[in-house]
Amino acid sequence: MKGTEEMVSLLGLGCMRFPHETPGSDDIDVEKAEKMIDYAIKHGVNYFDTAYPYHGHQSEPFLGQAMKKYPRESFYLASKLPMWYLKKEADVARYFEEQLERCQVEYFDFYLCHAMNEERFQMLQEYHIFEKLAEYKKQGKIRHIGFSFHDSPEVLEKICSAYPWEFAQIQLNYVDWDFQDAKAQYEILERHGLPAIIMEPVRGGALADLGEGPNQVLKRADQKASIASWAIRYAASLPNVLTVLSGMSTDEQLADNIQTMTDFQPLSADEREVLENALEIYRRNVLIPCTGCRYCIDCPVGIDIPSIFRLYNHFSMNRHTLNKPENEFLADYQKIEESCRADQCIGCQNCVSHCPQSIQVPEELAKIAAFVSGLEKNE
Ligand code: SF4
Ligand code: SF4
Repeated sequence: MKGTEEMVSLLGLGCMRFPHETPGSDDIDVEKAEKMIDYAIKHGVNYFDTAYPYHGHQSEPFLGQAMKKYPRESFYLASKLPMWYLKKEADVARYFEEQLERCQVEYFDFYLCHAMNEERFQMLQEYHIFEKLAEYKKQGKIRHIGFSFHDSPEVLEKICSAYPWEFAQIQLNYVDWDFQDAKAQYEILERHGLPAIIMEPVRGGALADLGEGPNQVLKRADQKASIASWAIRYAASLPNVLTVLSGMSTDEQLADNIQTMTDFQPLSADEREVLENALEIYRRNVLIPCTGCRYCIDCPVGIDIPSIFRLYNHFSMNRHTLNKPENEFLADYQKIEESCRADQCIGCQNCVSHCPQSIQVPEELAKIAAFVSGLEKNE
């Protein structure tokens, strides 16, 4: 990190996708997750990114417990102020102090205002949040103040200009570079001299399997490299990147990411061209830009939005290569409880305001419901 003595590892561990004990739940398989942390540390990862709501509020306490055996100064701990829970100014201190306790630490190395957007920027000013965090910094309870972001480049510019932030966290990957303004956002941070922390480099796992056609393009160029490694290297190749966060759920993903980042090589011009060719095919196939972040899961009806979109995207990507993709899709779709399926959506729009990808969820669900209904009629 320029201008500081921080030596942050280029791969950071995102703590929102640990393995689950019960499939489909928010809980953490503590034993497996702790082993992953130990493996990561052993292989040089020193940045751990958690937040109040991750894993149904369990990520912070779990991480606090898991990191206790390591000297506090040997790792960087990042957490985030849950902006959408704040109802009054006093809540800032309440949540912050609670987070220190949950993580069992006396300070955060990196502390972020979580999921900033236009509306939360108003709140930031109204509740004097930056000033409060600056006070914590003076007290040694925060070392660097930043924010994570989900909105337009115009809003990002406004937020960057308003306060002396030290870093910012944005969603960036080779699909979102153009698709979700990641390029414009990255350039704004660069202009403001703010190091970028990258989230969703593999788009919630979607870029670990691009479908048969694009996968083949990448595999032809490098048989040994995993598909996900192209995405991690893409993000890490950008010069203003402090660390690339990957939310890993399995030992294999962790080992693969660590291998990718060990003796890291930025993408060459030839590799960029290969990636662009694969991307062209991928863009034609994928329909819904869902990252599986699960911010939308408080649907009043209980619709399993991320699973439905994941199944549909998988179907879309592979429809030209699988033998009977419709049958496979329908069989998987019918495993979702009837009350949680797309046709149960009442169109209340709750999910739309929570979705960082601005997906028109009810509209997409209606399309999928109609598609499923057609398939069921032909069964
Ligand atoms: S619009 Fe549909 S999916 Fe979204 S929260 Fe409402 S009922 Fe759930
Ligand atoms: S629909 Fe939006 S909020 Fe829900 S999981 Fe997908 S990206 Fe996240």
